[in-house]
Amino acid sequence: MGCLFCNIVEGKVPAKLAYENEHVLAFHDIRPMAPTHVLVIPRKHIVGIGEATEEDVNVLGQVMLAGRHVAETLKLEDGYRLVVNNGENAGQSVFHLHLHVLGGRPLAWPPG
Ligand code: C5P
Repeated sequence: MGCLFCNIVEGKVPAKLAYENEHVLAFHDIRPMAPTHVLVIPRKHIVGIGEATEEDVNVLGQVMLAGRHVAETLKLEDGYRLVVNNGENAGQSVFHLHLHVLGGRPLAWPPG
């Protein structure tokens, strides 16, 4: 079966796209935790931020800028949060790096 998010990149698993460019893909989370909940993923398979290397600096920047672009496009003008969960305690459940873009309601801090 392989990596679920690689399968989305390859078009083998459907996703509701919000944005894409040569480096990244953004799609709506299937279990949204906020009125807007989009995931931005690199096309390149990177397991998580804990596994990223210097070689990935550009793609990591592309992921962040795509997160901002999605937030602006989806009109999260009252604020939004960009989140990367890394590892078990943080609740990472898919081991292909992804940036959560969350907004559309007030978000509590600190997170749970
Ligand atoms: O940070 P974490 O690894 O927990 O995030 C994975 C996210 O991927 C979850 O929010 C989950 O709802 C989402 N997901 C998805 N489509 C899938 C499987 C998981 O949007 N097919």
